[in-house]
Amino acid sequence: METCFFCKGTIENSFTNYMVDLDGHFVIIKNVPCHKCRQCGEISFSGKTVTRIEEIIEDLKKILTEVAIVEYVA
Ligand SMILES: [Zn+2]
Repeated sequence: METCFFCKGTIENSFTNYMVDLDGHFVIIKNVPCHKCRQCGEISFSGKTVTRIEEIIEDLKKILTEVAIVEYVA
């Protein structure tokens, strides 16, 4: 079982909303798979997920409105 880098708590698979500010454009990606510590709530993403988030943001840059809320699509 994986343990938390910060508190050694148990890490479990979870989902979170990822928020990023792109030059004043606020993007929210919903239901992003993540690893979450049961004890301190620290959230981390796998390398694959980070790459996918970057792709989603690149796509969004073409159609950016002031606030964009999208679902995570693997
Ligand atoms: Zn922790």
